[in-house]
Amino acid sequence: MFRFQCSQCEAWHEELPRIGFAMPDNLRNIPAGLRDGRAWWSDDVCVIDNRQFYARARLEIPVSGSGEPFVWDMWVSLSEKSFYDYLGAVDRGRAGGPYFSWLANVLPGYPTPIGLKSQMRPQASGTKPMIVLERSRHPLSVDFHEGMPQQRAEALCEFAQHRAILPH
Ligand SMILES: [Zn+2]
Repeated sequence: MFRFQCSQCEAWHEELPRIGFAMPDNLRNIPAGLRDGRAWWSDDVCVIDNRQFYARARLEIPVSGSGEPFVWDMWVSLSEKSFYDYLGAVDRGRAGGPYFSWLANVLPGYPTPIGLKSQMRPQASGTKPMIVLERSRHPLSVDFHEGMPQQRAEALCEFAQHRAILPH
């Protein structure tokens, strides 16, 4: 079980936070007043300028020494073909994919994931697609394949609970 004494409030925290992103970083970077003119989006999909295609998915990173994963509720970027294939599959109640994808959010505590390849794997209806990261030396990929060190999970927990500064 995940449990540690917080350096910010000294309480024992026993739950892994879930960090979520309401939209892809590229949409958030568009000034709010211009978004409607350039993009359309729902809770699960987003298109910007008719040429950037995104879907919401779930990245689970195992935490070393804990039976639970650290869950990121985030966005990936897909090709136009993959995006419409995914939408069509959802309409027909199928899973579709897997699809090649790029991560579309910078995760706190990690270097930018630009260039980190991934696969989005849709699941049976009702659950979010899962993200599988290609093996690489990127710290996020290392954590995905080998487990997130307990210390990083604790730092992320303090960040989520108290906006604590994350070590790099
Ligand atoms: Zn705390």
